[in-house]
Amino acid sequence: MAVNSIHNLPEGSNGPEHTLRESKDLALLARIVEHTPLVIIVTEPDGAIRYVNATAQTVLEYSRQHMLGTPLERYLVEIEGYPSFQEVRRRMGEGDGFQTRLLLLGNGNEEHVCLLNAFEIKNDIDKRELLVFIFRDITTEVRGSEQLEMKNIEMAKINSELIRNNTELKRISELKSNFLSIASHELKTPLTSIKGYSDIIIDGMKDKLDPDIYRMIESINRAADRLHKVVNNILDVTRIEQKRLRLKPEHIDLPALARESIEELVHFSVKRSISFDCRFPPDLPTFFGDRLRMQQVFANLFSNALKFSPDKSAIVVAIEVKDRLFHITVKDQGIGIDKNEYAKIFDPFYEIGSANRHSTDVSKFMGGGTGLGLSIVKGIIERHGGQIWVESEGVRENEYPGSVFHITVPIEAEISWDDDETKALFLAKDDEKHGQSAEVMAVEKKPVILFIDADKEAVEIASMTLQNAFDILVAENGENGLQLSFDHHPDLILLDSYLPGLDGYRLCRILRSQEETRDIPVVFFSAGTQNDEIQKCFASGAIDFIVKPFNGRELLDKIWRLLMRKKEITPFG
Ligand code: ADP
Repeated sequence: MAVNSIHNLPEGSNGPEHTLRESKDLALLARIVEHTPLVIIVTEPDGAIRYVNATAQTVLEYSRQHMLGTPLERYLVEIEGYPSFQEVRRRMGEGDGFQTRLLLLGNGNEEHVCLLNAFEIKNDIDKRELLVFIFRDITTEVRGSEQLEMKNIEMAKINSELIRNNTELKRISELKSNFLSIASHELKTPLTSIKGYSDIIIDGMKDKLDPDIYRMIESINRAADRLHKVVNNILDVTRIEQKRLRLKPEHIDLPALARESIEELVHFSVKRSISFDCRFPPDLPTFFGDRLRMQQVFANLFSNALKFSPDKSAIVVAIEVKDRLFHITVKDQGIGIDKNEYAKIFDPFYEIGSANRHSTDVSKFMGGGTGLGLSIVKGIIERHGGQIWVESEGVRENEYPGSVFHITVPIEAEISWDDDETKALFLAKDDEKHGQSAEVMAVEKKPVILFIDADKEAVEIASMTLQNAFDILVAENGENGLQLSFDHHPDLILLDSYLPGLDGYRLCRILRSQEETRDIPVVFFSAGTQNDEIQKCFASGAIDFIVKPFNGRELLDKIWRLLMRKKEITPFG
């Protein structure tokens, strides 16, 4: 069918020129209609197709011949949400035009989502009514936005999953830290016995024991020290993970601290002929940071450098200042580290497998650590506002390419006191350090120490250490402890927080609140070393905290210092 069979020449057109121009215009119009990106279909009032444009043939993939005379309905998909042909027809009769969304069905059963504009016109030639349907194919937009919607739904699902996982991870992490706190207590309690008894034997029974047995006891003592270190490392890692690592900042001479740490390792370095070459320029400024934690950084880096280097090699330690930052480098001539391990070695519990298999001329590398050292070092450095990274030429068979550990830290790290309790704890320790000497008080009668502790072995070991200088009272639970405190008014109470029944914190608060007992200093004597536990001890009214396992001589020394302080500041509290 030709386009002009449905057109109407404008009225008043006369003369051949005019007619020619008009027919040219109409031909142009016909071309536009044919090739517009819109699908145009004209039907009889009953829906039989009288005209389709070229775009309709392309979109629906049917030829004009195929479509002419067939009902338009055949090319519409009738599903819920889209109107039927009858519905469209009815609505067209209601007004000037009608707009809706429709689904057109192509030859290959392909569905096209279209926006339809439909209206009725009258053919001026035969005065018959015709229906004009103009479709705009919006399949791509609709599918795009459907996909976007799907993606959004997927994202929402992933998001809620992440939130669920995150909550679960937090719960697991809390469980883990509770577990670590309990485990550290449970490990430290038997460790107290092992360490305490073996200390006593090593200190006082050498002559009475068979040398072989004595050596075995020494080995037990060393094993207890190692285990103690591992427990403390695990606790440090938890503190770092939970952002609870507290620092006590002071001005530090970093080169001197580094030299002290090297000195500690001299036994191993000399044995393996490994030299430490220190490159510290004179007049370096002091570093404002936590001394003990920085010592831990040096100790870990230096012992790793030793551990993974061959005999007769050199370790270069350099400290310099650039742009208000300390740059510390530790360079070894050891086995090296692969590039893809650079980040992983700073993860807790991560060890590179090959390190364990390495050995040197004199001794096997002590590769089997716990994989905690570098994660603690990183935590400490970052807590000081610094960074740590490693460089190495990688690992090569039978070669020692070496590694360089780099640290940068601000000269004046911005470290605040974390809370008043911690400050009080440090100040108390400072008092001890700078305060009176541990000279024995001139006393007529021995001071009385009351242990309130269910851990019989710890009490027995402590008593063995203290019995010459003090009278010892022991209560195995809080209620008895309270009774003995009232009856005997001891000079000092050593109190465990973990007690059956009335726990240590509540007991301490009661002692503080009573007229008869409020002047007795209470020192917590516990294996728990989590910061919140220590804070709870101070919050309940304790003056100090002694960590199990303890060293006998240190315990004695500390108790004397506390008693001396009590003498100065009584009435206590
Ligand atoms: P560990 O206490 O087991 O030594 P670290 O966290 O200190 O654990 O180190 C993690 C791992 O990084 C080590 O097991 C070792 O594989 C690797 N590593 C650390 N320092 C060095 C070094 N100087 N040279 C080569 N490998 C190293």
